[in-house]
Amino acid sequence: MKCVRCKKKAKILLKRHNAAFCNDCFLYYYANQVNRNIRRHKMFDRNDKILVVVSGGKDSMALWDVLAKEGYNVVAMYINLGIGEYSNRSQEVVERFAQQKGLELIVKDIKKEYGLDIYVLAKTLKRSTCSVCGSIKRYLFNKVAYDGGFSVVATGHNLDDEAATLLGNLLSWEEGYLARQSPVLEKTHPKLVKKVKPLYTLTERENLYYVLLNRIEFLHEECPHATGARSILYKEVLNRLEEESPGTKHRFISGFLEKGRKHFQDVAEKLELKECKTCGQVTTTEECSFCRFIKVCNQQER
Ligand code: SF4
Ligand code: ZN
Repeated sequence: MKCVRCKKKAKILLKRHNAAFCNDCFLYYYANQVNRNIRRHKMFDRNDKILVVVSGGKDSMALWDVLAKEGYNVVAMYINLGIGEYSNRSQEVVERFAQQKGLELIVKDIKKEYGLDIYVLAKTLKRSTCSVCGSIKRYLFNKVAYDGGFSVVATGHNLDDEAATLLGNLLSWEEGYLARQSPVLEKTHPKLVKKVKPLYTLTERENLYYVLLNRIEFLHEECPHATGARSILYKEVLNRLEEESPGTKHRFISGFLEKGRKHFQDVAEKLELKECKTCGQVTTTEECSFCRFIKVCNQQER
């Protein structure tokens, strides 16, 4: 098997592209894909101040590294969500990387800074841990970016994540989520910061290969709440389809973006956006869920 670019011995085969690469050419291909996604969707340019959200996992570590190497103006943000030892270990990974590479990192600790506990919230509000966690993360992504004068928030969502999310949303016809499924979410309110996913065409396997080749430390374990999540089942089903027909995930996503998403746009436009009466961040209710969460946790402590 020869590298399609330099004809040396290939090390990785990407069936969906019908291409194999040696290690050097794989890194060239990887950076090329990221830059192409950024340009094609006008995500940002080298003048933008970019907040990269990192969890310590392979995808976000790969994103942080590739954007920094490609000369973008990036600052990373890590949120300690208080998920036991998992959170502590992931925080250590991102802090070590920032220190080794001399990169800027913002750390937010929801317990220390806001008194929030996702387990107390999930139990009191009868919501799943992931749903509470997701609301907190979305709030902080925007708030930290807005307050810090960032023009864009970048996350490490990969092709497998995007395809699994799309499948889940289609199976239950979640129109609102379908309207918002995109590698770029433009700001629809002066206080909302644009969100982008530069790795949306790269697979988990490609991100893993990237961090291994660059010897980037990452947390191998998943969040303990990820096990049993529906998205894992969707990923398994899609992997089976991809095996039989390479390129399925990419066709699924790109087809939806080109032909499907526009049919859900009016759902997104109907959402009335307000400013939270307590913190001023954008919400669809009088008071945002984050501010309500703080009250719930304060009451439980009393
Ligand atoms: Fe949060 Fe873990 Fe659920 Fe992800 S899997 S939303 S990090 S609780
Ligand atoms: Zn609020």
